[in-house]
Order: sequence, then structure tokens, then C-alpha cells
Amino acid sequence: MSHPDLSAGLCIGHPNPEIWDVKGGVRNNPKVIRAIRICGICPVQQACLDYVIQIERANPGAYGHTYGVAGGLTARQRKFVMRKVAA
Ligand code: SF4
Repeated sequence: MSHPDLSAGLCIGHPNPEIWDVKGGVRNNPKVIRAIRICGICPVQQACLDYVIQIERANPGAYGHTYGVAGGLTARQRKFVMRKVAA
């Protein structure tokens, strides 16, 4: 599995990186909404999402599998995508 260059990611060096790591209660959470919005304009969003899906599919216990925003999706949304891809 190759590691894409995500150095242009908008979460890199962001002053509030914790907004990508909210655990539980994500529905309508302002931090989560903010993270998703930033991901939505991130120049590497698709590469980030593809990568995190690959990682989480290969390592179900991997960091981020059960919480956090990555590639513009919450953990629950990523699980949904994984199930669709596997179907
Ligand atoms: S899509 Fe979101 S989580 Fe991924 S690199 Fe960009 S800002 Fe970070």
C-alpha cells in the first residue's frame, strides 16, 4: 500500500487539530461540522479518503476506525462506504 502525499492537507498544522478527533456524539457537533467543511475544500480530500478507507479496511482496529473525521467523512460514514465497496 503506497502512502499518498497528503502534505497539502488543510488539517496539517491547523491551529485546532482536535476537531478531527472528536469521540462520540458527533451528530451536530460544531467541531465535527467544522472539520467536515474544511475537508470539503481540502486539495487532497479524495486521496485522503481513499487512503484512510484502505487503512481501516486492512486494519479494523486502526486509529480512526471508530471515531474522528478523515477525508471529509465521520467514522460512521466511512464504515458505510466500506460496506458499499465490499458489497
Ligand atoms: S481531507 Fe480532511 S482529514 Fe484529509 S488531509 Fe484534508 S483536511 Fe486533513
